[in-house]
Amino acid sequence: MSRFLSAELAGLVPYTPGEQPQSGAGEPAYIKLNTNENPYPPSPAVRRLMQDLADKPAGQLRLYSDPEAREPRREIAAFYGLQPENVYVGNGSDEVLALAFLAFGKGRQVAFPDVTYAFYSVYAALYGLKTRIVPLDADFNIQPTDYLQPERPEMVVLANPNAITGKNLPLTVLEQILQAHPNDMVLIDEAYVDFGGESAAALLPQYENLLIVQTLSKSRSLAGARVGLALGRPEVIADLNTIKFSFNPYNVNRISLALAAAAVHDKEYFAECRQKIMAAREFTAQGLSDLGFEVLPSLANFVLARHGKVAGSLLYRELKERGILVRWFDEPRIRDFVRITIGTHEEMQRLLVAVSEILQEVA
Ligand code: PMP
Repeated sequence: MSRFLSAELAGLVPYTPGEQPQSGAGEPAYIKLNTNENPYPPSPAVRRLMQDLADKPAGQLRLYSDPEAREPRREIAAFYGLQPENVYVGNGSDEVLALAFLAFGKGRQVAFPDVTYAFYSVYAALYGLKTRIVPLDADFNIQPTDYLQPERPEMVVLANPNAITGKNLPLTVLEQILQAHPNDMVLIDEAYVDFGGESAAALLPQYENLLIVQTLSKSRSLAGARVGLALGRPEVIADLNTIKFSFNPYNVNRISLALAAAAVHDKEYFAECRQKIMAAREFTAQGLSDLGFEVLPSLANFVLARHGKVAGSLLYRELKERGILVRWFDEPRIRDFVRITIGTHEEMQRLLVAVSEILQEVA
């Protein structure tokens, strides 16, 4: 730390992303099951577009990108049966979340579970927001009643399915929480919704305090392009734009805007990939249970699993030795678990073989 860093930020503990080995830079090529990326490439339409983008207006890098992100907003709105005014596009959903915390969290407290996406507490710390951190129950469920009687104004932030656990809340429960917070924003982070959950987008006509955040990083295989989005009432989207135009108007580059539109347009490929991942998830969950693991029921593209006889950290290290990267969190409630991203069926077969070898050696 330099002596110039603002004193208010001196204690900030930043988010730690999962390992991103750079193959070709002398690092081994791993089966990468640690950051919930999609094992399949983006839509063939994205690949074709990338190939000829240099000749298209969208590829003209001498020009700034569209600060209103009209092309992807049109496609996203059409996908959800909404209007473009209901859609905001950002540089990954991390950026959308960052702007939303600023726009709707300042002056309030922010409530979210103790086991969830670790970035929520980082944004709160970055902006100096008060937090109400609500423990999940012993089975890692969100208890809706914890969010129904706010004692002071609070923005509620829930990942649904929840990050790290993969557990999902039905829309009826989200409605209760929305109704309990008529004067506060309820942010539903749907990063993993496309793997079996149900989007709250259908609730937008009834709830002006609903903000949905999604990403093209997972179900549309565009993690490297950095495109996230928000769905909300036009006034709410306008608020996000006020913050964005006060911060970084050209927040998404031209190429990513074009690729995002193409990816969302290709519904067939999207459906095919998510089906394959959901099938591989069930295969993996069953395989791990057969090996004696407790596997939390997941509607995301990952599973959280623990084995009574092997510590999470050991499993993580042993798998890495065998060329498979998973995620282990050194956090009190989930230290025994590993989080395993769902890859292709073949990758998951290799994972299960490696896990059973490790169990034979160490259990
Ligand atoms: N929300 C949740 C719950 C996530 O797990 C992630 C991925 N780390 C994100 C948001 C951010 O994804 P991205 O910035 O790639 O859109």
